[in-house]
Amino acid sequence: MLTKAPKQSWQEFVQCMEDCCTATEFQNWIAPIRASEGEKDELVLEVPNIFVQEYLLENFKAHLENFFPPLPSGKLPIAFEIAEPKRKETKKAAAPPPPSNDKPTSLLNPGYTFEHFIEGPSNQFVKSAAFGVAMRPGKSYNPLFIHGGVGLGKTHLLHAIGHFAQQKHKRLKVHCITTEAFINTLVDNLRNKSIDKMKRFYRSLDVLLVDDIQFLQNRLNFEEEFANMFEALINQNKQIVITSDKPPGELKLSERMIARMEWGLVANMGVPDLETRVAILQHKAEQKGLKIPHKVAFFIAERIYNNVRQLEGALNRLAAYSRMMGLDVTEEIVEGTLSELFQKAPHKRVSVDNILKSVAVMFGVRVSDICGSSRAKNVAFPRQVAMYLAKEMINDSLMKLAASFGGKTHSTLLHAWKKISNQIGNDDTLRRQIQMARRNLEN
Ligand code: ADP
Ligand code: MG
Repeated sequence: MLTKAPKQSWQEFVQCMEDCCTATEFQNWIAPIRASEGEKDELVLEVPNIFVQEYLLENFKAHLENFFPPLPSGKLPIAFEIAEPKRKETKKAAAPPPPSNDKPTSLLNPGYTFEHFIEGPSNQFVKSAAFGVAMRPGKSYNPLFIHGGVGLGKTHLLHAIGHFAQQKHKRLKVHCITTEAFINTLVDNLRNKSIDKMKRFYRSLDVLLVDDIQFLQNRLNFEEEFANMFEALINQNKQIVITSDKPPGELKLSERMIARMEWGLVANMGVPDLETRVAILQHKAEQKGLKIPHKVAFFIAERIYNNVRQLEGALNRLAAYSRMMGLDVTEEIVEGTLSELFQKAPHKRVSVDNILKSVAVMFGVRVSDICGSSRAKNVAFPRQVAMYLAKEMINDSLMKLAASFGGKTHSTLLHAWKKISNQIGNDDTLRRQIQMARRNLEN
């Protein structure tokens, strides 16, 4: 329950943010938000675009929760609305205007530049590919396909290409869009019968940056429209850069689309090693004007290891706390404020051997059958299930995993994974079997 009026709490939240953000951060992300009161004590926040909403939730969730205690359901008592472009014009909000169909006003995050991207062994290759593309759009790798897990810097690098290309080549039309926003624009234009205008706009671009292509999966009609536009641009040597949470071959998209995305360079964004995580932390702390001793940065980076975004969230929380309390950052303070963010080592390491044994028992076959070459259905199916589990539960190369199945190839494993992934959707028994196997393996 909120004891204060939501708008008053919002004012207090804004004041707190003014103290603990940098001026740029505050101007970009907090100042443009308009608050009003909805039904049942709910706060309604009007944000200029989805970026602002995501940024707020990702970086300041802990603060928000202090001012707006979560409901019993765990959700915040806050509703978000994206501002109507027309209303925004009269308000002169500080945020960049939303993308229109006429002008390529890309929503590039001002902080996501190459200068602020810290290099390490995990991202050197993809960073230099990105830099090459930004230097000579359409003339090096086309398309450039960047894939990797969440919070590892794919969007950052995509925007960095946008900033750099736009600055270096002033006359080029650069446009950056999330796949979701692309689909929404497409829907709007179909509804308003302005699809030709949209096509003309997209086909006039020099550099198209598309974030999170995985959202195109299972959107058949949109996929086709996207593929057409993609080909039209590539055929004119216009640069395309795509990010995704998986490599092209693992996306559930048409063969045609996958083949197109593999035309250029496919580069992986890996998980940064400890040294790089420390360097990222120190760079971000410096940007915020926060001093953290090297030892403390190390202490945090050792405990938050597979997601840079979480590392940054931890830093924001630490910055707010140390400013509020007027304290220097020490290991004790870090333990006190961040311990719940620290990642615990997984319960138990799952191995292919364990999976094989567990699946063999479940289907009443022998491990040697699963690892053998029989294609009989009663053996081939358990084999596919085991391969599916291996890919889902073990973070290792497909080649290595497949080899553990009596020397199968990575494409056999991938095929099995795809087949089972599809089947789980409409086979309740299989879904339950897999859930059970997972639970057994994890405990
Ligand atoms: P993704 O798109 O892969 O989910 P983001 O690009 O949104 O990840 O990155 C999450 C956060 O981590 C961003 O604030 C970004 O600036 C930061 N980040 C990730 N990698 C790096 C890096 N190598 N150097 C500096 N900041 C990074
Ligand atoms: Mg992203």
